[in-house]
Amino acid sequence: MKLIFEKSCGGHRLDLLPPCDVPVKSYPDELLRKKTLLLPELSENEISRHYTKLAGRTFGVNDGCYPLGSCTMKYNPKVNETAAALPGFTKIHPLQPESSVQGCLHALKLAETLLCEITGMDRMTFQPAAGAHGEFTGLLLIKAYHEHRGDFGRRKIIVPDSAHGTNPASASMAGFTVVSIPSGPDGCVDLTALKEAVGEDTAGLMLTNPNTVGLFDKNILEITKIVHEAGGLNYYDGANLNAVVGIVRPGDMGFDVVHLNLHKTFSTPHGGGGPGSGPVGCKALLAEFLPGPTVEGDGPYRLETPEHSIGKVKAFYGNFLVVIRALAYILTLGREGIPDAARYAVLHANYMKAELSRDYDMACPGLCMHEFVMCLEELKKQTGVSALDIAKGLLDDGIHPPTMYFPLIVPEALMVEPTETESKETMDEVIRVFRKLKERAVREPEAMHELPLTAAVRRLDEVTAARHPKLKYEAETE
Ligand SMILES: *Cc1c(COP(=O)(O)O)cnc(C)c1O
Repeated sequence: MKLIFEKSCGGHRLDLLPPCDVPVKSYPDELLRKKTLLLPELSENEISRHYTKLAGRTFGVNDGCYPLGSCTMKYNPKVNETAAALPGFTKIHPLQPESSVQGCLHALKLAETLLCEITGMDRMTFQPAAGAHGEFTGLLLIKAYHEHRGDFGRRKIIVPDSAHGTNPASASMAGFTVVSIPSGPDGCVDLTALKEAVGEDTAGLMLTNPNTVGLFDKNILEITKIVHEAGGLNYYDGANLNAVVGIVRPGDMGFDVVHLNLHKTFSTPHGGGGPGSGPVGCKALLAEFLPGPTVEGDGPYRLETPEHSIGKVKAFYGNFLVVIRALAYILTLGREGIPDAARYAVLHANYMKAELSRDYDMACPGLCMHEFVMCLEELKKQTGVSALDIAKGLLDDGIHPPTMYFPLIVPEALMVEPTETESKETMDEVIRVFRKLKERAVREPEAMHELPLTAAVRRLDEVTAARHPKLKYEAETE
């Protein structure tokens, strides 16, 4: 497909601006552009067709099943969009006086109260723009806490080897040393390894529960206690909250700080670079370090910066409209609907896991939470067909592939998360396609390396794309 610059045709343009009716001021010569600015020239009709064609080549939740594990690609009710598009939320300016945006501050406060209730935390900041950004913020809170007490020796963050890659990356960016601990044979934290790892240099532990193999760590109270007794704090990676939202709370599991991914659990459009939100909740002991401003009072509301704030991590109040979408989602589901969503997410994953166990090996047999990990190592040994080949094959049937090769502790991993928003009929169709691909892998393995045959793009050179990314269009003309 041609780029918009390649479609450009001199003279095809839109002139929407009226002629200038004020004196034109010239800029100093050194500020003036030396080359003419290269802008594509197309008619409105051509632009419209270009973007419609592009949209047809992407894949989203509205196109088909999107069982991308660890990402919770659920359906986003359109009523959330309606709420976020209300002019009272969109036609405001971040520098407006507090007195003129009391409704928006009320919405922020309400979202904070509800999400604190859901997580068992005391305060929350909405500044972070994504989960990883929230991790970084939460770790800075932990750092500020120790340093504020004059304890400068706590430099280590313990991270299980099943963790999402962002966990060690955030810990390292926040200036900590990462200590990786192995998982036990059951896929959960190895308590002996944890006990050996903690000490006077422990700043904290980062954990997601349920973890990345889709298991709820039954030793969670013991785990958080071991870290607390060593003087460390516990960080909850909330990316997997969809499995337990409204049922158990990280705060009650012994966690001191948590990030949520509003674009996962709380149903905001996700992927494609759309704005996300990774609010960070904390127990009272960390509240004085939160980024500012936070919303204070209970009407009229004030914006204030906590006393020992770590400073801003993003401009203003974070991605405000994403918070509105989450708020609309929580209020429409309510006290009964939220835990029901979690129960259905777990039921769906277990249904698919039970069905697919007949054809594929599972990383951890038995019941799972909201997602499960298939292990295709044996299939690859016998047929040469890899997890990648199966994932690519799904594309021909209009199904987005599951997460591949993650978690790193499972070889030839495919991680499936159907979410609560898929119907049994859709799940049955996905199961049918998985089965068909397994049969074909045994029957004609060579053909599997060619898949997909009908997708908009076939196999990409992913290595070159990652090693030598082309990040901008190089124009030929002056
Ligand atoms: C998605 C995810 C993250 C990172 O969240 P982003 O919003 O993508 O930055 C962290 N941990 C886990 C387990 C995740 O699935």
